[in-house]
Amino acid sequence: MLEIRDLVKIYPGPVVALKGVSITIPNGLFGLLGPNGAGKSTLMNIVAGLLEPTGGSVTLDGADIVKDPRRVWSRLGYLPQDFGFYPHLTGAQTLDLLLRLKGVDAPGGRRRLVHELLERVNLADAAKRRVKGYSGGMRQRLGIAQAIAGDPRLLIVDEPTAGLDPDERMRFYRLIAELGQERIVLLSTHIVEDVATLCPRLAIIRGGRAVLVSETAAARSRLDATMYEGVVDGEGLAAVRASHRVTQAYLQEGSRHRVRVHAPDGEPPAGFVSVPPTLEDVYFVAMRDAERAATAGGGAA
Ligand code: ADP
Repeated sequence: MLEIRDLVKIYPGPVVALKGVSITIPNGLFGLLGPNGAGKSTLMNIVAGLLEPTGGSVTLDGADIVKDPRRVWSRLGYLPQDFGFYPHLTGAQTLDLLLRLKGVDAPGGRRRLVHELLERVNLADAAKRRVKGYSGGMRQRLGIAQAIAGDPRLLIVDEPTAGLDPDERMRFYRLIAELGQERIVLLSTHIVEDVATLCPRLAIIRGGRAVLVSETAAARSRLDATMYEGVVDGEGLAAVRASHRVTQAYLQEGSRHRVRVHAPDGEPPAGFVSVPPTLEDVYFVAMRDAERAATAGGGAA
């Protein structure tokens, strides 16, 4: 269990990046969702024991990460957003170097561990190729291989699917889902689909606060019978925006717009039909509610 309590981070400036975040995270995949600048990386860096918070606590199975990060590091794997590689090394050489730097124990020998890890992330065939020839997805999987060395209790991945093509993303999803069966995986992203596909639990972070912490399915079903969809022209869209809370509007060919609205009073615009809620809807509604609350509270968003 990962327990994050009343976490506050103030950077010099001052920039208040976290304003008191509390989240309890059990085994499995947990999604941390929020726009750029929300405080996700700050939170991840504190949980990884790389950054000291201004206040609050983080414990992993009872061990205090803030007070004694060294004790927890061996049980923690981290794939940061900007993971650096040496392009001229092969995949196997890269991993060997990273394992040495990390001081990972390899009872059966490091070569064997390197091979096992590459197999695990489906890169065994590319072990002898230079990393500079790897695709974005292959690099991410190599990053995961170093992160899972030593079989960590907690795996932290920051924006892992940014820049991956759809095939690579699916492959990465499968790997992460597998890893989440036996440990805590904290996945930070601004891509709602990542969380919708992978994470049974999530938190939505906005302006340094956790504005929603929930099981993903429960968050979705709280919006049951409140979401509606319809197709309107440009003028219609303006009218719907004025009368309803629009969660999404896509332009379709012929300048028509497919529009989703949140109508908790059960009174959608004329011609709109009830649709099952998606996690995108959850995200938009949570963000909008938080924005309203912040405005009502004096603008301290
Ligand atoms: P996210 O990962 O959600 O994009 P971050 O945690 O990177 O958000 O940033 C949260 C806020 O803290 C932003 O306003 C950002 O500009 C600020 N911030 C991040 N790192 C620093 C830093 N080292 N010094 C000052 N401000 C920072």
